[in-house]
Amino acid sequence: MAQLSPVLTQATPVQVARGEGVYLYDTEGRRHLDFTAGIGVVSTGHCHPKVVAAAQEQVATLIHGQYTTVMHQPLLRLAERLGEVLPPSLDSVFFLNSGSEAVEAAVRLARHATQRPLVLAFDGGFHGRTMGAAALTTSGAKIRSGNNPMMGGTVFAPFPYAYRYGWTEEQAVEFALKELDRQLVSTAPAADVAAFVIEPVLGEGGYVPTPPAFLRGLRERADRHGVLLVADEVQTGYGRTGTFWGHQHAEGLTPDILITAKGLASGFPLSGIAASTELMSKARPGSQGGTYGGNAVACAAALATLDVVQEEGLVDNARVNGARLLDGVASVSKGVGTVGDVRGLGFMVAVEFTNPDGTPDPTTAVQAHKAAADHGLLLLTCGPYNNCVRFIPPLITTAEQVDEGVALWSKALSDATA
Ligand code: PMP
Repeated sequence: MAQLSPVLTQATPVQVARGEGVYLYDTEGRRHLDFTAGIGVVSTGHCHPKVVAAAQEQVATLIHGQYTTVMHQPLLRLAERLGEVLPPSLDSVFFLNSGSEAVEAAVRLARHATQRPLVLAFDGGFHGRTMGAAALTTSGAKIRSGNNPMMGGTVFAPFPYAYRYGWTEEQAVEFALKELDRQLVSTAPAADVAAFVIEPVLGEGGYVPTPPAFLRGLRERADRHGVLLVADEVQTGYGRTGTFWGHQHAEGLTPDILITAKGLASGFPLSGIAASTELMSKARPGSQGGTYGGNAVACAAALATLDVVQEEGLVDNARVNGARLLDGVASVSKGVGTVGDVRGLGFMVAVEFTNPDGTPDPTTAVQAHKAAADHGLLLLTCGPYNNCVRFIPPLITTAEQVDEGVALWSKALSDATA
């Protein structure tokens, strides 16, 4: 009998048997409030009836169309439907399986299109675990450690993480943009930079919303230097932050390449890249794609997901109930133990733990996370020091379920800080 490799870690001991809406049920029949949503994946909740029906129908019709050999309808329909939610200038899309794969594809597209070698990412960013995506990832040591040398041509600039610097957001933005400008004439000469790759909310790196002023600063520099602005919306897309895409919090701003995955297909493996047709035309034909990309069942699930997101007003729900979650978590957390900061955008909310001497406190974060699981509330940790606990409920989460989660969190926090 083969054992599961110890290289995989598991945040909780839960052995899950089935999921329904915002709840998971374990093999002993115990109910868990799932405020992880499978790391922000089950946007429509577990096993939404419309997603289930669409997938079941597709399984019985065509499972694998293989788009580099033949084309299939669910993929074409999904490309068409995405046009309703994508910025109009990003009118060309293709599909892959995972966020990491899509990040790698975006980097290759940017390099082909610009004929430039360097990719600039930001400290604390998470872009995936495959070699190229891992090379852009600095959200924690475990992805990079023991894995050097990573893919060449990656450069990092500071992210305006105001809380950890002990600055105001304005000060952090000013510092990060100045530092970026310095790098564009030193470590990463602007004429050699193909792309800036940024998450609209720093995800695994601590749930720090990217200040709109910083995104605008990047857009302005990208335009000035002919650099492509790549929005990694793997975690922030599909309504998660209370706008359809996270970058829309910087009103009027459009990235050159948008990467989507996770919430796109409610749990089926699917990711996508969007850019203008003009930009996509600069890629080498046949240089992108893959055996399983744009799987027919995943595309059918994505179409149903989009229907549900639109019909059930899930973007608005993430905004309204996300604010309720932030308020609720803040009101029961602030001033308790080593809680230093509570922040969030839509249904991405985090509590950061900091020792009295200002150093990160991962011990309490991990204890609070574990205590929450003991109370039947599933959460995740994050942050470069693993000193944040994050809440990412499915987008269908109601006000009552938010309150249920806040009440459980309050108990967990008092257990962890007793
Ligand atoms: N980019 C971001 C912003 C992510 O949050 C993640 C996953 N946490 C990825 C890329 C990688 O996605 P995947 O795990 O599907 O490869």
